[in-house]
Amino acid sequence: MKSPEVEQRQVVVIGAGPSGAIAAALLKRNGHDVLVLERQRFPRFSIGESLLAHCLDFVEEAGMLEAVQAAGFQTKHGAAFAWGERYSEFDFRDKFTEGKGSTYQVLRADFDQLLADQAARQGVEIRYTEEIVAVDFSAPRPQLSVRRLADGAEYRVECAFVLDGSGYGRVLPRLLDLDRPSAFPLRQALFTHIEDRIDTSSYAGRGFDREKILITTHPTLRDVWFWTIPFSNGRCSLGVVADASRHQGRPQDLDACLKQFVAETPSLSRVLQNAVWDTPVRALGGYAANVKRLHGPGFALLGNAAEFLDPVFSSGVTIAMRSASMAAGLLHRQLGGETVDWESQFAIPLKRGVDTFRVYVEGWYDGSFQDVIYYQKAQPEIRRMISSILAGYAWDQHNPYVAEPKRRLQVLAELCAMD
Ligand SMILES: Cc1cc2nc3c(=O)[nH]c(=O)nc-3n(C[C@H](O)[C@H](O)[C@H](O)COP(=O)(O)OP(=O)(O)OC[C@H]3O[C@@H](n4cnc5c(N)ncnc54)[C@H](O)[C@@H]3O)c2cc1C
Repeated sequence: MKSPEVEQRQVVVIGAGPSGAIAAALLKRNGHDVLVLERQRFPRFSIGESLLAHCLDFVEEAGMLEAVQAAGFQTKHGAAFAWGERYSEFDFRDKFTEGKGSTYQVLRADFDQLLADQAARQGVEIRYTEEIVAVDFSAPRPQLSVRRLADGAEYRVECAFVLDGSGYGRVLPRLLDLDRPSAFPLRQALFTHIEDRIDTSSYAGRGFDREKILITTHPTLRDVWFWTIPFSNGRCSLGVVADASRHQGRPQDLDACLKQFVAETPSLSRVLQNAVWDTPVRALGGYAANVKRLHGPGFALLGNAAEFLDPVFSSGVTIAMRSASMAAGLLHRQLGGETVDWESQFAIPLKRGVDTFRVYVEGWYDGSFQDVIYYQKAQPEIRRMISSILAGYAWDQHNPYVAEPKRRLQVLAELCAMD
């Protein structure tokens, strides 16, 4: 007989970030009972403000697209890259893979709250300021220990399945010893929000485009890069990513350090010459993470709770939502009595796209993908294939640069370097 104090639920989702909110809504739409447990009170700050077009496919699937479109977020049509006098831009509306060509640049506090509220409107129960502190997967039905942050009281929930969307909290990887070190070197991001006062009429001889993220390569340190993500309220997110060795000899003070990186980069300094720096700079390091496996009996890992590669191509939220959509679909079938294989139907197909991004992230830092991006004479069809990947369509096996990313990138980089 079940002990009465253990709450009985069908599915528990850990975390109400993008992966948790999308997964919960999709399961609810399919008639399942879903409880989301979120440690923080929303709205809360999160990094990751530049979305890719593909993530809106999952927002749409979860019935939230109209609400996102009506929220007044900054429209985004693509990505621009600058290195010294070189400038290159990719418009997601001009891409090889069919699908969405536009998306948004968002304050994540607002975006994540909107998604969570939309899930709640669809009937998902979300409990904020309640934290998962322990798990027990020894019985067929997993049990979770939950602490209410308001009074410190703990209670237990038992369910058929747990989806871990806890992001950097990495709840199940930590508690089930699933963590595996990332192969990427330790990098650190320094970032802030500024009142940008960008003069859109003069930049790179063509005007600054608020509808694109701007990625700027440091003039001499090619593995150091900046993001500039304009919002719709006259402000923007600004950050620099550099590995630990690049911080040596620089100011310890985070504000001074970010300002020094910017001052060394004339094209970006010009863009930000009138900016008002009104928010303390924050640092986040060692964010790349990996796991031994993405699923086990009674659970699957979503989004950042599984693997996080690197921020350079803004792929985090898209991968998080794609994993949520795949897991929710598979779990729906499992709860309906079907036998499903989480390895071949979830982990392997999800990793295919993640591995595509991985090749281009590695190519960014070793310079080969930068050679391609900054190459001015690439064939339009090849740029359209690259544009698809930058728009998030990294699972489209019809795209040769997705199907064979390593070989294609190597050949293309060699051609660009020869010219
Ligand atoms: C420097 C940097 C820049 C980035 N830029 C971008 C970008 O431009 N575009 C992009 O798409 N991605 C970007 N990312 C990645 C992006 O931040 C993440 O991929 C994305 O937020 C993952 O979503 P998620 O739902 O998996 O997790 P999160 O958004 O992290 O949500 C997890 C939630 O789980 C909750 N939680 C944690 N522990 C517990 C617990 N014990 N119990 C209950 N709840 C818990 C947390 O409070 C949180 O609300 C960037 C990342 C970094 C490091």
